[in-house]
Amino acid sequence: MTDAAPLKLFNSLTRQLEPFQPVHPGEARVYTCGPTVYNYPHIGNMRAYVFADILGRTLSFKGYRLTHVINITDVGHLTDDADAGEDKMEKMAAQNAQSIWDIARHYTEAYWADIKALNIRQPAHWSIATDYVPQMIEFAKSIADKHCYELESGLYFDTGSVQDYGRLARAQTEEGEGRIEAVDGKRHAADFAIWRKTPPGEKRQMEWDSPWGRGAPGWHLECSVMSGQLLGFPFDIHTGGIDHREIHHPNEIAQNQAFCCAGGLSDPANSGARVWMHNNFLVERSGKMSKSSGEFLRLQLLIDKGYHPLAYRMLCLQAHYRSELEFSWDGLAAALVRLKRLLMAVQQLKARHAELGSTSSAPTDAAVQGEDWTLKQVQGDEYVRFAGLIERFDAAIADDLNTSVALTVLDEVVALKKVDPAAKLGVIAAMDAVLGLNLLTLDRAALRIRPKGAVIDEAAIEATLTARKDARAAKDFARSDALRDELAAQGVDAMDGDPLGWEWKLGS
Ligand code: AMP
Ligand code: ZN
Repeated sequence: MTDAAPLKLFNSLTRQLEPFQPVHPGEARVYTCGPTVYNYPHIGNMRAYVFADILGRTLSFKGYRLTHVINITDVGHLTDDADAGEDKMEKMAAQNAQSIWDIARHYTEAYWADIKALNIRQPAHWSIATDYVPQMIEFAKSIADKHCYELESGLYFDTGSVQDYGRLARAQTEEGEGRIEAVDGKRHAADFAIWRKTPPGEKRQMEWDSPWGRGAPGWHLECSVMSGQLLGFPFDIHTGGIDHREIHHPNEIAQNQAFCCAGGLSDPANSGARVWMHNNFLVERSGKMSKSSGEFLRLQLLIDKGYHPLAYRMLCLQAHYRSELEFSWDGLAAALVRLKRLLMAVQQLKARHAELGSTSSAPTDAAVQGEDWTLKQVQGDEYVRFAGLIERFDAAIADDLNTSVALTVLDEVVALKKVDPAAKLGVIAAMDAVLGLNLLTLDRAALRIRPKGAVIDEAAIEATLTARKDARAAKDFARSDALRDELAAQGVDAMDGDPLGWEWKLGS
């Protein structure tokens, strides 16, 4: 079952769908560019990790032994990706009069909390950039003679020294992209710093000695070094947000080429990773995604407004990762309702399974709890009715991770009538091993988060909703409307027609 549909992934390097062919048979090695921990991640950033998680889960589902690395950038990332501006970490530390190490620890922990809340699986390694500075210096030493040159401000990579520079971005390298730092003496506009010297007379919080003077590594260097060290060149898949396709990843690729052989990119092994994948952006028109705006869109803000974090995961999965996704509160509310419906169905199935007791043969109770499920287990007579749906689910995710189609197939599974509830639970659990919505273990009550700003207590809302239900049952629609208005006056929207029970949300 696991090999039913061959996995195809869109490679940004060739701009084509390609069958996944692991470098090491049976294994999948994946590197994901992680956050720069100078501030809280916004929900757009988290889309990049939901995408990487779906990729990892799909690879596991397809039977590959996954090694996933996500890095934490705590040094070197300037306010502009293209080598200009100040170091993001140094700037935040100066603004808050705190040590960089404290800033990094605080925001790394905040990021990990979001990872957990979104049910993103832990990678095999969280690699921290500052732990790898000696290795970065060694890497730079090994490419310096042939591929770098020194200027007053540091050691620069000569992008003209490798073949096919910028192919990933399809960039016109000589003119640059308009965002490239003007440094006197650079040989090409796109050349970038491998090592940045601390200017004379200045002292930075983070600096190290190197053959090119005291200073700090350039941002692109860390990912080449950590991915090569932890996964070995070439590894299978490198991921990041689509902005990385333009500068960061072309520069990583150039460094990797320099390190391995300086060969061209027609041989996929020379770029360091065989496949480069990028998620498109989550966009928000009013600018709340910007970390500089007052109330920016953090996951915690969604939770404060009464949305379970997995509703955001659902929102992400409803779109293809390569499509731009526009954020709206209505869209999030709809995703929450969809998640509730699935949980309600699972709850009912569990109840029926318990009622039937031992007469229902499969799967085991552990499986019903959502533990250790893969499609391999979904075999046998109980599953014949599901075979077509399982195949379609498998085909959808194998088709460049088409989660939106996979979700509609899951809906069809849920809607299937007259099937063994335990078998249906087994199929849902297997599908959820890929989707990661916690469908088998999440308690529906947990979805009901009280908005932080709610001024009335939940019991009062419940009492009014119950009174309203009684009024409707007695066909006293005038009273029912009056009670609805009463709730609205307190900022609470009653959600009518919801077959799942009495639902309310804080009005916007
Ligand atoms: P940063 O912390 O800025 O390095 O970004 C972390 C990750 O989030 C990177 O993979 C970015 O490409 C990605 N990213 C940044 N903004 C967005 C967005 N609005 N939507 C999706 N991904 C994003
Ligand atoms: Zn990176």
